[in-house]
Amino acid sequence: MTIELRSDTFTKPTPAMLEAMFTAEVGDDVFEDDPTVIALEQKAANMFGYEAALFCTSGTMTNQIAINVHVKQGDEVICDALSHIYLYEGGGIAANSLASVNLLEGDRGRLKAWQIKEVIQPDNIHHPISALVSLENTVNKGGGAYYQLTDIQEIKQLCVANNIPLHLDGARIFNALVETEESPLEYGKVFDSMSVCLSKGLGTPIGSVLLGTKAFIKKAKRVRKRLGGGWRQAGYLAAAGIYALDHNINRLKEDHARASIIGETMAKLPEVENVLPVDTNIVILNLNHKILAADYVQQLNAKGIRATTFGKHQVRFVTHLDFTDDHLTEFQKRIL
Ligand SMILES: *Cc1c(COP(=O)(O)O)cnc(C)c1O
Repeated sequence: MTIELRSDTFTKPTPAMLEAMFTAEVGDDVFEDDPTVIALEQKAANMFGYEAALFCTSGTMTNQIAINVHVKQGDEVICDALSHIYLYEGGGIAANSLASVNLLEGDRGRLKAWQIKEVIQPDNIHHPISALVSLENTVNKGGGAYYQLTDIQEIKQLCVANNIPLHLDGARIFNALVETEESPLEYGKVFDSMSVCLSKGLGTPIGSVLLGTKAFIKKAKRVRKRLGGGWRQAGYLAAAGIYALDHNINRLKEDHARASIIGETMAKLPEVENVLPVDTNIVILNLNHKILAADYVQQLNAKGIRATTFGKHQVRFVTHLDFTDDHLTEFQKRIL
């Protein structure tokens, strides 16, 4: 048995999810005529208190579309240096939107209002225009760290005062929400746009949703089309999304509990320098500096444990729907 901990994107649809997909009613979504896509978009928008939503292939696409709608050529996006939008989207901010970034160093990827306030550009022709603030919750590269809503609300006030829209890369927003027990509706009030992944912890094969006002989503739909992201009978995939939103949110807590045990197990090993606090379903560890992450991941591989390198001496494990208590027991046996 292979123990798959490379990413929570490795989950495969369960028989019940597949059944929902097989029986979906579909149409041509480019013609806005796929009832299941429309149902998913309405459901996701309603959950977070938005007017509208757009179902897309990936979280990279939803983030990049949002950035493209919010900023103009030469503008600047303010975000943390660990952000997925900066590190892992192929340079898309520059390539798709001709915009630059103003990178901040937060606490495991989490920013505070005062940090952002310090870098908002004055109205002066020398500077790029600070056109967007983008946060990530939970922070992937920060080991699954999550925000407190009060910190986000302070950032929102700052953004409103400076007339700057606020975007959330909420690829793993539900991992944060099951821990804080905050209402998703509170999130809809503070972010002008939000990207939510269905293919991570929620366990669908494909898909993310972008949330915003009707006017924003109308613009987003044009950008999606331009990127080649218009799709046809996408309802088969949207059905998986609806199923996931109905069934797979509360169980994320199990993933967090198992990740926490993985963290404790790894912290005891002599080759491990330290493990970042395990707040949700991501475990990031730093190895002793004599050991390369690439070599270590290969050693784990030989034991049938799959993990990813996350830096020269950094390794990441992610728990998910297909990683059960049996897998955890087996993991502990193999690791020691
Ligand atoms: C996975 C992820 C995304 C989107 O990734 P895709 O593979 O493009 O769906 C965006 N942001 C974060 C923080 C992620 O972890």
